[in-house]
Amino acid sequence: MLLKHPADQQGSLMSLSSAYRKGVHEVAPGTFAYLQPDGGYGYSNAGLITDGREALLVDTLIDIPSAREMLEAMRAATPAAARIGTVVNTHAHPDHTAGNELLPGTDIIASAATLAEMDALEAGANPIRQILENWSEHGEAGAYLHEVMGRRFEVHRGKQVMPNRAFDDELTVPVGAKEVRLVRVGPAHTRGDVVVYVPSDRVLFAGDVLFTRVHPLVAPGTAEAWIEACERLLEWNVDVIVPGHGPVSDAGALGVFAMSPCCGSVPAWTTRLRRRTLASTISAAGQTRSASS
Ligand SMILES: [Zn+2]
Repeated sequence: MLLKHPADQQGSLMSLSSAYRKGVHEVAPGTFAYLQPDGGYGYSNAGLITDGREALLVDTLIDIPSAREMLEAMRAATPAAARIGTVVNTHAHPDHTAGNELLPGTDIIASAATLAEMDALEAGANPIRQILENWSEHGEAGAYLHEVMGRRFEVHRGKQVMPNRAFDDELTVPVGAKEVRLVRVGPAHTRGDVVVYVPSDRVLFAGDVLFTRVHPLVAPGTAEAWIEACERLLEWNVDVIVPGHGPVSDAGALGVFAMSPCCGSVPAWTTRLRRRTLASTISAAGQTRSASS
């Protein structure tokens, strides 16, 4: 099912947030989120930014069947999805990269730090894959990972197709007349995290820099650096944020996330300081939006 963006359905972001259903959701004209409830292990989101006949895909899900189903849904939603020219991997985790294999001949872009992390995972340093391959030999942890991930996805199959284009800090990619900004904000969730920002749509694809209504994972980033990344994003002009996991949200959710227990490993004094900063930033962002609307 394709849900139209709020301006078309006289709804609001609340309607998108409450309509947390699997499938393609139009969050701005020609810009789509692909959501996979419930957002837990392996159930990541993706995005499609289109203008005219051009399209850029944000992330490629955890396995080939999931990616194939997503691409079919996108092609049913918009003709531009028939010719995806660019793919962005927001970070190295396989639930955002495994479907690269289905997009031969495209530019696959990631940060240089993410490319290095993907190289390390392919070189055998992927502990989750190692456990899943012999899960019955790993006790309760192995059984748990098999239950939540191994038996649900084809995580062992297929070859990881790597990005063929990398950048250090920022890259702007045209999609038709739209300017799409790729900005590395890691280390946060990982070292190489990239967010995908479409200023003309006021839409941000946050990758796993934002989890909404899902417990986050810091691997191998740090909580404090993650908060700094959130603070940076709160300064941008954004109406809709598509998180890496969970329902579509907005800057308020980003601020709440940055103050959430995921940051418990940060010393208490730092957290209090951050909370004061974030509270004023969120308040200022809200005033800016009301003033401009
Ligand atoms: Zn991740």
